[in-house]
Amino acid sequence: MLRAIHIQPWNAVFLLGFIAYCTIRHVYERRARGTPKVVRRAGAQDHFLIAIVLVGSLVLPILYLFTPLLAFADYRLPAPAPWCGAVLMASALWLFWRAHADLDPNWSVTLELREDHQLVTRGVYRLVRHPMYAAIWLFSVAQGLLLENWLAGWSAVVAFAGMYFARVSREENMMCEYFGQEYREYVQRTGRLLPPIRRIGSQAWGRGPGR
Ligand code: SAH
Repeated sequence: MLRAIHIQPWNAVFLLGFIAYCTIRHVYERRARGTPKVVRRAGAQDHFLIAIVLVGSLVLPILYLFTPLLAFADYRLPAPAPWCGAVLMASALWLFWRAHADLDPNWSVTLELREDHQLVTRGVYRLVRHPMYAAIWLFSVAQGLLLENWLAGWSAVVAFAGMYFARVSREENMMCEYFGQEYREYVQRTGRLLPPIRRIGSQAWGRGPGR
């Protein structure tokens, strides 16, 4: 049974953002597809966590938007919340797009490295090692601020937290094994999700990196 009544303006904003998110991923997934993978570190746990993220960011929002099944978890958000959600979503989409564009053929959905894998340290990777994960955090919080339902709104944050904390150190270890000193130096001058404050300060005062 469809629940068209739930397609209210903020839900429509979420839906449009979600379509944009899937489109970006689809375009770059196709571009990277042709480059063979030479290192595969993803195990059953990684695939399970990706499945949980899909439930939180896709299945539950769809159930909420198009069926009455999750109506028991509806609640009201303060009026400014969806406006903040829309701003976060726009920022998330920009960052998600830029991270995909900067990684381009070096992108993989999980812990893998491709043939002739290049360490990307330019664009949105210049100051931050995980801009794509930062974008997914932003998008997940935007989902919570746009959908007035405890389950459909906040499931993505919970699901992505599980995946992020299980993956990020292992991804960095993999990169470190493959790129060695080049990656260790990159770690020194970047932050995980936010630019390192020290570097911004030194740039603002016109000094070089690492001081
Ligand atoms: N953690 C990154 C990338 C997520 S996609 C981010 O949040 O932006 C995950 C894959 O991207 C990894 O398995 C690895 O193959 C690749 N990757 C991650 N960081 C990279 C970098 N700086 N340069 C090249 N490839 C990278």
